[in-house]
Amino acid sequence: MKVPFFDLKSQSLSLKNDIQSAIDEVFETQQFIMGPQVQTLEKTIAQYCQTQYAIGVASGSDALLLALMALGIGPGDEVIMPPFTFFATAGSVSRIGAIPVFVDIDSDTYNIDPTKIEEKITPKTKAIIPVHLFGQCADMDPILQISNAKQIPVIEDAAQALGSEYHPNSSSTGRRAGQMGNLGCFSFYPTKNLGAFGDAGMVVTNDPTLAEKVRLLRVHGSQPKYYHKWIGINSRLDTIQAAILLVKFRYLEKWTEARQRHAQKYGELFQDICSNMEALKLPAIQYQNRHIFNQYVIRVPKRDPLQKFLSEEGIGTDIYYPLPLHLQECFSFLNYRQGDFPVAEKASGETLALPIYPELTEAQQERVVDRIKTFYRNHGMLWR
Ligand SMILES: *Cc1c(COP(=O)(O)O)cnc(C)c1O
Repeated sequence: MKVPFFDLKSQSLSLKNDIQSAIDEVFETQQFIMGPQVQTLEKTIAQYCQTQYAIGVASGSDALLLALMALGIGPGDEVIMPPFTFFATAGSVSRIGAIPVFVDIDSDTYNIDPTKIEEKITPKTKAIIPVHLFGQCADMDPILQISNAKQIPVIEDAAQALGSEYHPNSSSTGRRAGQMGNLGCFSFYPTKNLGAFGDAGMVVTNDPTLAEKVRLLRVHGSQPKYYHKWIGINSRLDTIQAAILLVKFRYLEKWTEARQRHAQKYGELFQDICSNMEALKLPAIQYQNRHIFNQYVIRVPKRDPLQKFLSEEGIGTDIYYPLPLHLQECFSFLNYRQGDFPVAEKASGETLALPIYPELTEAQQERVVDRIKTFYRNHGMLWR
């Protein structure tokens, strides 16, 4: 039995007729740029994220770039973020001449460690970007407290966290990813929980001034057409992608619930390995957060040989991320060294993402866990 790391085709096939008619509609109107579907999707996502505004853009990376530009961040400014994230979090900052300033992560959630933020703040700090990694919100209350006290804006990198909720105690209700900071950034890259047929992204905010600025910056800062108030970029969300995303959005809750069910099932299947092998750690849910499991990431001993073994057994896995950002070649000018962020570095060497797409079957999950057990038995690390 093969278990691919993800399976986009079965999801696309199950919606083939609806997606085809959505594309046909765009064909009929020929409104490829800023067609009515873009606005409908913006309204849909704003409502889903509990925000006033949502602005469709060309990708999650551009969402970050435009959020930074809207805050007026530029050369020499410092932006705080974790080093254990997808490249775009830091790339967008560097791209506008600002300086990524890294802060180590929490070893259980892999999200930025809020207790280590304050020591990195200088008069040049112009934003904090917490990343809601793998689909679980970063510990936002202490981050927002620092943001308020120091008047430093927060941009949430919520690319992996559409529909995720921060829920630190039982008395309040959860707050959705993207609505807690000044701006929230989402990606509709095909493997995200809501994925387009290509690149697409969204910026959400409750601030009308920032919303208007992002709206203009995505069309070269022009209003009216050919009169430019700011130097922006061309970063619109294609009508055809919006049309496809509107079809898929109807299934988002169902898909997310399936991911959560699979996470629960993995938890049950792994129980006896975990009680016999302390080094294997399952994803930790902090507080009563709503984790949307864009990825199901475990921490394991002998990670690389395990991944190779699973691959030979027809089981796809992936590593997010094998090299933390402070050690990337392109950031050598920032002068970070091995050992600067030990928690992130350790996570890079020990974590492995298992298949968690909605269409995954129980039999496939049983196969994945059974093969992992076999690997550790073969290595004399597990006797049962
Ligand atoms: C996917 C992702 C992005 C970038 O999104 P794209 O749409 O691929 O540009 C940014 N940050 C994180 C954490 C991501 O996972």
